[in-house]
Amino acid sequence: MKNDKKGLNTICTHVGELEDKEFKGAVSPLYMSTSYQFEDVDIKRYPRYYNTPNQEALCKKLAALEHTEAALIFGSGMAAISTALMAFLQSGDHVVLQQTIYGGTYHFAVSQFERFGIEYSFTTGWEVEDFEKEIKPNTKVLYLETPSNPLLTITDVKGVADLAKRKGILSMIDNTFASPINQNPVDFGIDVVVHSATKYMGGHSDICAGVVAASQENMDKVWQTGICFGGSLSDYTVWLLERSLKTMAIRVKAQNENALKLAQYLQHNNDVDNVYYPGLKDHPGHELAKSQMKGFGGMLSFELNPEIDASRFFKELKLIKPSMSLAGIESTVLSPTQTSHALMSPEDRAKQGIKDSLIRFSLGIEETEDLIADIEQAIAKVKSMTVTA
Ligand code: PLP
Repeated sequence: MKNDKKGLNTICTHVGELEDKEFKGAVSPLYMSTSYQFEDVDIKRYPRYYNTPNQEALCKKLAALEHTEAALIFGSGMAAISTALMAFLQSGDHVVLQQTIYGGTYHFAVSQFERFGIEYSFTTGWEVEDFEKEIKPNTKVLYLETPSNPLLTITDVKGVADLAKRKGILSMIDNTFASPINQNPVDFGIDVVVHSATKYMGGHSDICAGVVAASQENMDKVWQTGICFGGSLSDYTVWLLERSLKTMAIRVKAQNENALKLAQYLQHNNDVDNVYYPGLKDHPGHELAKSQMKGFGGMLSFELNPEIDASRFFKELKLIKPSMSLAGIESTVLSPTQTSHALMSPEDRAKQGIKDSLIRFSLGIEETEDLIADIEQAIAKVKSMTVTA
């Protein structure tokens, strides 16, 4: 099925389906073959060429969701991000990366680029001017992430895309936190979109995958690098991801609603210091987020008052799981200092405004009242321990 002007749930459910011609089953058949005929065929298929029947079908759905001509699916978000960056950078080039990005992407830049003779600069903030200040004559890529992990800063997507176009530079965005349900960066002029599909696309905390989506011309370049790095995804996981994507729009909408309600609740909770959520009217990026996002997302961060020990708080939670990763249908919390941003130096974390007490909250689809009740009982327990101690 083509996606011309279909609704979001229809695209999620039907675009890129494989037809079960033999048995007429309702869902895509799974082709696990790693070996395909090479003679008298139009396409020579092989998993690492990203073109098995299931990979090809899923990529049609992903491209439809990100409003791009093409997409490729990888074995992890970092496989997608590293392949995409290396597809457009070579020795002697320079890349500008947003300061507030996923810790793994930051680590990739600082640990790998120098070995390949690639220069890089981090912005000092997340405004368009911050990107412009870092541009050099050899800059080839501007890399942004909005909303960013973990502080939910909002960057002007069109502003950065326009700047890149003016300077003849490629723009690339990590759209993981928003998901294609809440934000389509290509509509604002961004060239390449990357995702950790481990997050909202998978949505059930049981799939590790990544996505790159762009024009056919740019995806041809990503493919050339991708077949060398070999970060393709097994067809079984591709099939599972196709199933997960069918419910992405309804999951993400429920997570958006939960996050807004929780952010509003936490903002009025005297035991909470700061709440970071672009859906809150007093968030500095609120108006910008409203203009470029269709929903504010299911992620928020907050700090408890200093006298409430965050690690004790984690231990007292009964429903919300203190666990790595994000975007599953179950609510989870984590400490960025101990997990996603652990590979960053304390100085660099401080520069980004990531305090050790910061708690990142990934909203699931549970009833909001149950989540609030869990937070309240955990805070009460920690406070009672502090009083008796
Ligand atoms: N981008 C963002 C925003 C992330 O949060 C993550 C992982 O947490 C990644 C990229 C990397 O994805 P993966 O863990 O699937 O490699």
